[in-house]
Amino acid sequence: MASRKLDWRDGRLDKIIAVGIASRSHDLCDALVALKYANEAAAYPAMLQAVQRMARHLNMRYRWRAEQQLAAMSKRVLDYWLSDHCRACGGVGHQHVEGAPARHHRVCGVCLGTGRRERPWLGRKLPPRLGEQASDAAQAARRKRVVDIMIERKRHDQLLEQLDRAERDVASALTWAVRGRHTGRS
Ligand SMILES: [Zn+2]
Repeated sequence: MASRKLDWRDGRLDKIIAVGIASRSHDLCDALVALKYANEAAAYPAMLQAVQRMARHLNMRYRWRAEQQLAAMSKRVLDYWLSDHCRACGGVGHQHVEGAPARHHRVCGVCLGTGRRERPWLGRKLPPRLGEQASDAAQAARRKRVVDIMIERKRHDQLLEQLDRAERDVASALTWAVRGRHTGRS
């Protein structure tokens, strides 16, 4: 294992790792905690590398044969993950009604309650339908492009899902570590 890139303040990170985040590398945990929880922008390059490793893993596991796209895909997914709040509701999932009690808040019409903004890779438009006079070759080429775009969307979603899962692992390990400390367990 490469030397640790970050010294987590009070050794808590060692505890997180001791809790056993199966299949997650030390580098990923370090970078994720520093970037998302401690807001240390300097951890971005390490986090990007960790996401690229995740992408390479998926690429092998699902035989994507997408080596050329992994770097750009990783950056797109990481940047979204870092700032995924729905702009309309600020990430809470419902719209604040001025002066009304909380129960009168309406589900956000933009994110439909998820609190997340639209994933940017879904914004890529599908090619327009062709007229009946279009050749078979042109129709086939269009179909292939549609499939390529759908596959690309799915892969971005899979990588985001991995990242979300890593975050959940780290968050629950953190909760565990903090609780352990409060009750005096080591
Ligand atoms: Zn919203």
